[in-house]
Amino acid sequence: MITVEHLTKCYGDFVAVSDLSFKIDEGHVYGFLGPNGAGKSTTMNIMTGCLSATEGRIRINGYDIFEEPEQAKRMIGYLPEQPPLYMNETPAEYLRFVGEAKGLKGLQLKRQVEEAAGQTKIEHVMDRLISTLSKGYRQRVGIAQALLGNPRVIILDEPTAGLDPIQIIEIRELIRQLGENHTVILSSHILSEVQAICEKVLIISKGKLAAFDKPENLEKLLLASNGISFTVEALKEEVEEVLGSISLITDWEVKTQENELTAVSVKTQSENMRDICRGLFFAFADKNKAILEMSSKKANLEDVFIELTEGESEVDEE
Ligand code: ADP
Ligand code: MG
Repeated sequence: MITVEHLTKCYGDFVAVSDLSFKIDEGHVYGFLGPNGAGKSTTMNIMTGCLSATEGRIRINGYDIFEEPEQAKRMIGYLPEQPPLYMNETPAEYLRFVGEAKGLKGLQLKRQVEEAAGQTKIEHVMDRLISTLSKGYRQRVGIAQALLGNPRVIILDEPTAGLDPIQIIEIRELIRQLGENHTVILSSHILSEVQAICEKVLIISKGKLAAFDKPENLEKLLLASNGISFTVEALKEEVEEVLGSISLITDWEVKTQENELTAVSVKTQSENMRDICRGLFFAFADKNKAILEMSSKKANLEDVFIELTEGESEVDEE
């Protein structure tokens, strides 16, 4: 459905997107996940024909976004990060205006506006000024305009940013419904959000594709980076013997060893860190070895980013 090949975007000397390649298949909900400044909006703006690329090629259903922009753009409905809503218009006026700009007219325009309003559940606010609507409803109007022209792909840039928890749940539900008959790509910097909505996740970090997988696999990756650090009064060999007997520990590293004090960092795939801390405590106590310090840290998305992009030297951002 969409192929992105070797996409690179530079702003002056700064490389915002670097050699990004991926394929999007029809009929799924995809998530672009990455911290602020990762290059999500830049990539989306280029994919939707709103921004030029420095290098690379993008095809939407076979149409090249740079060479055949009209055909390619017709396949896509886009809600940018800052939706271009006109505050002193009503949703009805605004959607009619956008529909006309997309080449709709007459009965077809009327039907599609009604349909988009129905899908996004804004029928009852169609004649209120957009300026009087809540952020959640404004976002619905933005999604409704993306639906006009019946595009097969809907691209939503941070669709839940700035919404309250109830609005977030409603917009997620709406996105899920759209995913039943569209290909949907949304961006977010929140892992739990893409986990909740998306079937496939592209992790973008510093303009590069760091991972492309199902959320459950990313979860495993994340769990594998849960870590516990401790210092024990024992020799390295003694520590290794004890660690080898604890099955939930997948990986460990001796950080320092001095004066019979060994500092260790261990990794585990278990979600229950407390069990492992307790296991370590009693395992060493059994051998009459005292743990003098211990701390546990649950991996977060940042850790996965770091793990996935380790060894890459890029200009630091923010
Ligand atoms: P994201 O949407 O993932 O937060 P963006 O695509 O907006 O990231 O930005 C990627 C990087 O490019 C950021 O470091 C940002 O500061 C930079 N950037 C974005 N737009 C411009 C621009 N018009 N000029 C210069 N730098 C930009
Ligand atoms: Mg952005």
